[in-house]
Amino acid sequence: MTAPELVWFRNDLRCRDQAALARASERGPVVGVYCFCPGQLSAHGVGGNRVAFLLRCVAALSLELERLGIPLKIIEADTFAEVPAALGSLVRELGVRRIWFNGEYPLNELRRDAAVTAALEAGGVTVQRCDDTVIRAPGTVLTQAGTPYTVFSPFRRRWLESIGPEDLAPKPPPRRQSLLAVTSDPVPKLPEVFVATAPEELWPGGETPARGRLERFLEAAVDAYEEQRNFPALDGTSTLSPWLAVGAISPRQCLHAAVEHNDGRLDGGSRGATTWITELIWREFYRHVMAAFPHVSKGCAFRRDYDAVPWRDDPVQLAAWREGRTGYPLVDAAMRQLASTGWMHNRLRMVVAMFLSKNLLLDWRHGEAYFMKQLVDGDFASNNGGWQWSASTGTDAAPYFRIFNPVTQSKRFDPEGHFIRRYVPELAALEGPNLHAPWKAQGLSLGYPEPVVDASASRKRAIEAFRALVG
Ligand SMILES: Cc1cc2nc3c(=O)[nH]c(=O)nc-3n(C[C@H](O)[C@H](O)[C@H](O)COP(=O)(O)OP(=O)(O)OC[C@H]3O[C@@H](n4cnc5c(N)ncnc54)[C@H](O)[C@@H]3O)c2cc1C
Repeated sequence: MTAPELVWFRNDLRCRDQAALARASERGPVVGVYCFCPGQLSAHGVGGNRVAFLLRCVAALSLELERLGIPLKIIEADTFAEVPAALGSLVRELGVRRIWFNGEYPLNELRRDAAVTAALEAGGVTVQRCDDTVIRAPGTVLTQAGTPYTVFSPFRRRWLESIGPEDLAPKPPPRRQSLLAVTSDPVPKLPEVFVATAPEELWPGGETPARGRLERFLEAAVDAYEEQRNFPALDGTSTLSPWLAVGAISPRQCLHAAVEHNDGRLDGGSRGATTWITELIWREFYRHVMAAFPHVSKGCAFRRDYDAVPWRDDPVQLAAWREGRTGYPLVDAAMRQLASTGWMHNRLRMVVAMFLSKNLLLDWRHGEAYFMKQLVDGDFASNNGGWQWSASTGTDAAPYFRIFNPVTQSKRFDPEGHFIRRYVPELAALEGPNLHAPWKAQGLSLGYPEPVVDASASRKRAIEAFRALVG
């Protein structure tokens, strides 16, 4: 048998527009491999919803590959430390001379890849690394001084200028190949340590549902995205984040489709389409930040001076936040949406993150970890970036004195209370402004908690704590 090209799938679980797979398939017959590392996922705090979704996507990938005659081997290695040896033995078993993968940029993944590369190259295997989980690889969008950007707007401008036709063109699909004498492995079941609470039907695995969502979003919602994206009661956003997080759809496919919808324009034209493209650029920005500033992968604030914020220790209030019992309806509705669906609207992620880090003055890392545990789209770079933005400790973050008021946000972004009523049924009977501030509805017994903090006093407390650090 000709030595097969080995494609190592990671968070790029798709056949279409997949750089490593496309390039390997040009060279010869392909065998795919996926390394499932439950111990590493646990160590990274990844929760059951995300792991269950990931396994559904691996199963869908295996079927797609099978149609192309490409077998998918599965390695079960508890942690990254075991991956070099496990891949090494598969490489020997199959007689592989070349392995392909798309780079990942978090610190532990970079270390894993360096260890795999060293071990395989020592055995005479060629390692081919592509960049494909982003449209522009970290290190390719730099300031005139050659340094990484730490502010989003100039990054966005430079990123847009740097996009050429090759960044928009999807990679060719892999060739259908005649069957190799290699059999696919069964996809592992969800290990018991992971508990998935999000309904499976909300988040079907694979490329087909992702492409369907993208098409529907572009047909029905993208032109109104600019106006509707902040209203959680509307279906105003794509909800593609879980598929983007595991790479069941590529950011390039999203960009390509949005640009086509916008008559070939990256910027200008439909405001909805360009605003949506800007969100895809935020995703890229946080990956570039993570790659350029490894301390953010080590649990540190991007702004080192903010590592000294005197975060409070209050397990009771932390539990009230997690469980959607803060007494602030929009915050509670959002946290209950997360608990019951594994997903939360972007506006609400900002609202609850500011509430935790500012009004409760609790360490943003508690929130980051809880999100990672619950989210079906948990993604280190975007989650860390979003939390540090909200806590004012990050790149281009919200200034510490600009703190969302949870009642004002509620009135502004859920004016009729449709979203709140969906997730906080105790408040269904309230009308008008009282729905956003139920403690004002006197004489009613709602079975809903009193606010855990006073919004205005806690805002002042946070501003003083931050001001004491930076003046
Ligand atoms: C505190 C906090 C935590 C977050 N954690 C995550 C996370 O773990 N995983 C995750 O994918 N996103 C995260 N985000 C970003 C954002 O909230 C989600 O990507 C978005 O809500 C997903 O919904 P959508 O697919 O409908 O997005 P759309 O509005 O349709 O946007 C399209 C895509 O662009 C990307 N995107 C959109 N907004 C952002 C953003 N602000 N930052 C980075 N990428 C963005 C996502 O991949 C998204 O799917 C977080 C934001 C905050 C404030």
